[in-house]
Parts: sequence; C-alpha cells; structure tokens
Amino acid sequence: DPQTAERGQSLLRRLTDQGYEGYFVGGCVRDELLGRPVNDMDIATNATPEQVIALFERTIPTGLEHGTITVLIDNEPFEVTTYRTETEYVDHRRPEQVQFVRELSEDLRRRDFTMNAIARGIDGEYTDPFHGIDDLNKGIIRCVGIADERFEEDALRMVRGIRFASVFHFEIEQQTWQALLHHQALIYHIATERIRVEMEKMIAGPYPYQGIELLLSSGLIPHMKVSVPCEALDQDLLRSLEQLPASPSILRWALIALGLGMDEQQIKIVFKSWTFPNIITDQVSKIIRMNERLYNGIVQREAVPLATIEHKESIDTDANRHHSYVLFVSCVLDYGKEIAQYWHALFPVLPHAYQQHLAIIGNQADRWLEQLTVYSLADLPVKGQDVLQHLEIAAGKWLGELLHEILLLVATGQLDNNKEVILHYADQASGRKGLR
Ligand code: ATP
Ligand code: MG
Repeated sequence: DPQTAERGQSLLRRLTDQGYEGYFVGGCVRDELLGRPVNDMDIATNATPEQVIALFERTIPTGLEHGTITVLIDNEPFEVTTYRTETEYVDHRRPEQVQFVRELSEDLRRRDFTMNAIARGIDGEYTDPFHGIDDLNKGIIRCVGIADERFEEDALRMVRGIRFASVFHFEIEQQTWQALLHHQALIYHIATERIRVEMEKMIAGPYPYQGIELLLSSGLIPHMKVSVPCEALDQDLLRSLEQLPASPSILRWALIALGLGMDEQQIKIVFKSWTFPNIITDQVSKIIRMNERLYNGIVQREAVPLATIEHKESIDTDANRHHSYVLFVSCVLDYGKEIAQYWHALFPVLPHAYQQHLAIIGNQADRWLEQLTVYSLADLPVKGQDVLQHLEIAAGKWLGELLHEILLLVATGQLDNNKEVILHYADQASGRKGLR
C-alpha cells in the first residue's frame, strides 16, 4: 500500500530529523524485495523507548520491556523497536528480558534468518551484513551466524525456517538443515500455540504440502509437546491441499484432518490441544461427520431419516437421485448451510471412491442448496408448543424427532410449509407411532 509506505517513510524522517537512526527491518523489507504484499512495517531505531514516546503524538507502549512502542501515524500502527540483543536464552526460548544495544548491526545479528536480517533506510539503501539479499535471490533459508547455536537458543526458529521454506518455495541451506535435525528434540520446549501460529501461516501459503513434507522429514513432530497422529497419513490427499483456496482456512484444515485419517473424536482432541479456536475444531468435525454420513448413506443406503418418510410423490422419479437429495438435505438441516457449502468446496479433492459414490450430490449440491426454502426448525410456521397443544400429549423425546421429520419433509417438498398441513401430519404421525 503506497499510503502505508508514505507513512512509514515520514516516521523514519521524523526520527532522522531529530538525529536518531531509523530503519525498516525484518519481514517488510524481505517481502518488498520478494515483490510480495507487505503486512506490517517494523522499524528499528537507536532511540530509546522513552525518546520514541516523547517524539510522536500518539504512541502505545505495546512491549515496553522488549523496547517496542507502537506509533500511530494517521491511525495506522507501526512497531518501533529500540536496537536490542537477546541474551540469556532460558529453556531454548526467546528471553523475557532484552538488552538495548547501540548498533543496527548488533540488532540484525539476533534475527533468525539472513533474509529477515536486512534493514532499509530512508533513502532506500540496504544494510545487509549477512547477505540476505543474495540468499533471497537464490531462494535459500539460512540462519544468521552458527545455525547450531541459533536453534539451541530458540527452538521455534526451526519451525519458522520450515514455514518460510514452504511459503516461499525456498530451500533450507545444508548446515541450517543439519543443525535442525540435530536439535529436533528441543522443540519440546516451545509452547504449542506459537507453533500453531507458524503452522497456520504455512498452511495458508501457496505450497502447504512442501511444508508438511519438510515437517515430516525434520523429525520435529514426535518431539512436540502436542504431537500429531501421522500413522494413517494419506500423502495423495494432502498433496491436494494446494488445489483448495487458502481462505476460508477451514477448508484446508478439514482436508488435513481427512488426510491424517482422523475421526471426529480425534479431531476434537487434537485440534483442541493444538489450541485452535473452538469454532475451527467444531466446523472441521462437522464437515468430516457430514462427509462420512453422506458416504455411508449412499454406500450402505443408511439414510436413517428415510425410513420414517412416506414417499408421497417423489420430487424426482429416479430413486437414486431422490435418495441422494434427501440425504443431502437432511445433512444441510443438521449441520447448516455453511458446513454443506464447505463440504461441497472440498468435493473436488475428496478420495476417488467418495467422488464416485457421491457424484450426484457433488453435481447438484449448488442447485439443491439454492432451492431450499427452510434450513432449520425456526423456518417452520409451527413451534413445539403448537404441536403439544394440538395433540394434547406430554412433551418428550418424540417431539424433537417429529419436528425434525416434519422439517425434512417440508425441506424436500413432501409437505407444505403450512400450519394446518403440518399439524394434520403430526396428528397422523402420532397415531402411527402409537403416541396415544
Ligand atoms: P511474517 O510475514 O509472518 O510477519 P516476519 O519475518 O515478519 O514474518 P515476525 O514474527 O513478524 O515474522 O518477526 C519480525 C522479525 O523479527 C523477523 O523478520 C525476524 O527478523 C525477527 N524474528 C522473529 N521471530 C524471531 C525468532 N524466533 N528469532 C529471531 N528473530 C526473530
Ligand atoms: Mg511480521
């Protein structure tokens, strides 16, 4: 964004006009050199946090103890960090305490990879003591300094290295890779959530499968605090990750669950322990459940609700097609339209047997979803209370079951969405089921 660049530039100018040094550093310099969209522009300076606060109108002491002040320029936040080093790594993690230093080059030395240790000044000149630009051009991920030491200091860097290699389609330089293999066990010390954040960036990138392969061959996974079940891993399925859009991210996570052969129970346990938000865990498990239900429904003709439906007049004369239709609609009613749409987006990368057996549904899902007039009990003109009053039977488990049966009949066009018609059906059904 040219406006962001302008604002960043004016921030640097303010610093240098006052006699301080100021540089763009890290991800933004790297991404700009790669011609990729730049997210946030981080700035390094020799001004102390107090001096930064004094210099700008609007500041937030975001990470004062790390020397980071957020400066707002036209409401846009920039992180300004005082040159610092990280010493005293404890437990192979980045330290809570940092030390401020005088030189830009000392600040660059603490950074993880050469491509992340490039600074750009106000006139566009680069400070690149570790030849990060060369490595960017060659497509190489290389540690700053001695790889062995860098991974020992902070084991998260191993996962970051794999993430960058995956997202940029780069190679990890020999010594860096050897050091990674050597220190794989140290990943145990890193909080699961921090690893998950790196994984999310990796999976959202253009080459997620390359990242998964690297992770597998790195030997890191078994050493993580929360491991991943890889015994039933299906490489072909995971390879198709790239054919799915990166957003919404739920699609790729659902395919990963499928590619790792996870059942619903496993999904709940694994995703939760990987600190995914509940909504992700929930949606992935619903997508997988819906997929299984469709498959079993077709292969074993196991569409349970069908048994309770009296086929008045089939909306489609083809029995298979009607069966598929009712099965699909009953899933939409149980899991919601959104989950059904996610499932449908996943359809082109499902295993061959699924695509074959579910071909009718895969072809028609869009049309069927569009035609539906009811999605949930709330769309019926009759509430549970109405049915109870009409039938004069005590409430019980039967009521919910009956309402769902009615919903499915209405949704599939076998019953009018009309109060009288529905209550009349309830009458008949209650008699048939021996409810009174
Ligand atoms: P992204 O595009 O994901 O933001 P990034 O490189 O900007 O990638 P950040 O986590 O935002 O990653 O970190 C900003 C900079 O801080 C990095 O470019 C790197 O120079 C430095 N850095 C981040 N994490 C580490 C680490 N674990 N060890 C050393 N340096 C790090
Ligand atoms: Mg960043």
